[in-house]
Amino acid sequence: MQSYSEKVKLVKSASFPSRQLVATSDLSPGDVILEEQPLLLAPHWECEQMKCSQCMQASFVMCKKCEIFPLCIDCTTHPAFDCDFFCNAAAKISKNLLVENYAIFGVLKLLLLMENPESSEYCAALSATPGATVVDSDAWQEREVQIITPILQSGIASAFKRVKITHELLHTLCWRIDANAFEVTASDGNTLKGVYGCGAQLPHNCVPNTVITFDEEFSLKLYASARIRAGEIIYNSYTNPLMGTSQRHHELRLTKGIECTCARCSDPLELGTHMSSLKCRKCAGGFVVCTTSVRNGKSSGEWKCVNCGAFMAADEVKQLLVDVGEALLETNSELFAYECLLEKYSAHFHQNHFVLVEIKQNIASILRAILMNPMCVPGKDLLERKLQLCEEMMPLVRAVLPGISKLYGIALYEYLLSYMELAELVYEDKEAADAALVFQEKLENARDIAAKAKEMLRFEPSNSPEGHLLSRIAMEQKRIEDNLRQLNSKRNGA
Ligand SMILES: [Zn+2]
Ligand SMILES: [Zn+2]
Ligand SMILES: [Zn+2]
Ligand SMILES: [Zn+2]
Repeated sequence: MQSYSEKVKLVKSASFPSRQLVATSDLSPGDVILEEQPLLLAPHWECEQMKCSQCMQASFVMCKKCEIFPLCIDCTTHPAFDCDFFCNAAAKISKNLLVENYAIFGVLKLLLLMENPESSEYCAALSATPGATVVDSDAWQEREVQIITPILQSGIASAFKRVKITHELLHTLCWRIDANAFEVTASDGNTLKGVYGCGAQLPHNCVPNTVITFDEEFSLKLYASARIRAGEIIYNSYTNPLMGTSQRHHELRLTKGIECTCARCSDPLELGTHMSSLKCRKCAGGFVVCTTSVRNGKSSGEWKCVNCGAFMAADEVKQLLVDVGEALLETNSELFAYECLLEKYSAHFHQNHFVLVEIKQNIASILRAILMNPMCVPGKDLLERKLQLCEEMMPLVRAVLPGISKLYGIALYEYLLSYMELAELVYEDKEAADAALVFQEKLENARDIAAKAKEMLRFEPSNSPEGHLLSRIAMEQKRIEDNLRQLNSKRNGA
C-alpha cells in the first residue's frame, strides 16, 4: 500500500511519533519520498449525503448482495470481506444501519479493516496520539451520540470475531481517524477524510521540509520541498502556516495532541516575521514579543519590548485579541468594515501580526470576488490595493514555507492576475510617454512571476484544485507572450 524512497528509512524515536522517517542520503527539492494508497476514505462526520463506499460519489443504492453497504450505479460490488461480513451479520442488525446512522461509516469501515486479516496489521500502525484519551467536551459528546451509541445499540458488535468492540475503542477509533486523516478532494469537488497509515505519521514541524499531493485516485505523494541532508528528519506541517504561534499551538493540541517546539515556535520573532508581535507603546518602532512562548508547552508568557525592554501585561494582549476577534464577527463580510478594522488595529499590532493577516486575507478574498466578476470592469484602485496586499503577504508565506510551497504558488498566481490586469489598463491609457517601454518591462516581470508560480505548483495532479491553477497560469503565459509579440511588431512597424 506504500512505497518509500531508498533515500529514507524509518528509525525508532524516543519522542512522538515513535518511528520517524529520516533521510539516509541527501534529498533534492522535488524528490519523491513516499507514495501511498489510502487505508480508508470517509466523509466528514457531519456529512449526511451517503456516498458510494467504492468511489465516494453520491450514492442512492445499496449493495444488492448484503443490502447494507452504499454503492452507486457504476460500482456494483465492494470488497468481498465486507460484503460477506454483512451477509453473515444480517440477522443481527437492521438493513437501515447506515441509512439511519451515516455518521458511523468511517468507524464501521475501520472496524472492518481491523477485522480483515489482510489489513489488520496495517491498521495497528495507525498512530494512537497522546491526546487519544482526552475526553473532550463538545467533540466527544457529539461522537458519543452520533457514532458510538448507534454502533453499540445496533447489535453489530457480536458479529466481529477478532475485534472486541468497546465504548473506549470506538472513541479511540474516532480520534485515530481524525488524527491520521488528510483532507482530500473528490472529483465532484466535495472534501473527504483520507486516512494514510504512513503519510499521517510524519512528525510535525511548523516549517515543513515536504509537500504533499493527492491524485484522482486519492494516492498520496510526498515530495521533498527543500534540500534535506542525510540524517535530517522528514517533517510535515499539520497547521495553517499563516496562524501565529499561540493559534497554531491551540490547533495542534486540539486536533493532534501535539506540543510543538520547532524552530519557529521557539522563536519569539517567529523567524523574523513578527507574526505574533505587538507595537510598543513606550518607544517608537519597538515591538513587544512573548519571550516565553513555548515554556512548558504553554503559549502564555512574558510580553516585553525587544527595543526598550518595557513590559506589557499578558491580560492586555489577550484583551486586544478578544476585541479584534469580536470586531471581526461584526464586519458582515463588508470590504469597508474590514479596511476600517485593519486601520484601527494596525496601531496595536505589527503589520505581519496574524490578526492583521487574517483581516488582509478577508479583504483580498472580497477583492478577488469583485475582480473575477465578468460584469465588473476593475478600477485601477482595486487592482492596486490587491497588489499591495499580495506584496505584504508574499514575503510572509515565503519565510514560513521556504522551498516548494503550494500556498506560495497560489499567492504568486493571485498576484500575477492583478499584475497583468493593471499593466494592461495602464498601457491602454498610455499616460506616460514611455508607456510601451514600461509595459514591456512589466510583461517581462510577469513572465518571471508566472514561471515561479508554475514551479511552486509543478507536482499538482491536473485534477486537483491547485492543478487547475496550472492551466490558468498557462493561459496567463500565453497572454503575456501575445502582448510581447504585439509590442514588438508595433515597434518594428513604426
Ligand atoms: Zn461508486
Ligand atoms: Zn455487499
Ligand atoms: Zn512549531
Ligand atoms: Zn519599546
